[in-house]
Amino acid sequence: MNIEPASLEALIGEFSSLPGIGHKTARRLAYHVLSKSESDVERFSTNLLNAKNKVHPCPRCYAFTDEDLCPVCKARQGAKSICVVEKSSDIIPFERSGIYKGTYFVLGGVISPLDGIGPEHLHLPDLVQRIKDENIEELILALGSSPEADSTALMLDRMLAGVSVKRTRLARGIPMGSDLEFVDEVTMLRAFEGRVSL
Ligand SMILES: [Zn+2]
Repeated sequence: MNIEPASLEALIGEFSSLPGIGHKTARRLAYHVLSKSESDVERFSTNLLNAKNKVHPCPRCYAFTDEDLCPVCKARQGAKSICVVEKSSDIIPFERSGIYKGTYFVLGGVISPLDGIGPEHLHLPDLVQRIKDENIEELILALGSSPEADSTALMLDRMLAGVSVKRTRLARGIPMGSDLEFVDEVTMLRAFEGRVSL
């Protein structure tokens, strides 16, 4: 007989819907919640809602922020380089290493026909506009070395026809996409300093 109350089962369901959480871990987390004080659980749920309600993409670079502009855009107005990444959390290793002093642009993915992601699903036109408006001198592609990243770079290249901006990409050999945020500082420094012209 199933002895788990429906509300507990529902909570297990929520946890197991998270990436990387299997059913067993989900059950352990749900039971752990029951052992917490009511105020702890309340704070947890408030933080869940706050993150969802207050965090939005920066209007200039699409990185997640809870202010009108993200801290990088605010602090580095007038910077002449843009580092293009797939998702907001990809910015973290750059900032952790401290090697890069320019701004970023979060594309929101890479072109992937198999997953139904075409150029129209990415923020490519906004990026091209920023490059023109801000007279950007260097565009650093940090999209990884997958075929999808390559076709995204190619599409961007086409859209930038006639625009004079130096284009580079990080040295190959560092994991991109879902793993970029876990890249250590030394690897990041090496990939950044070894970046090559396109
Ligand atoms: Zn920003």
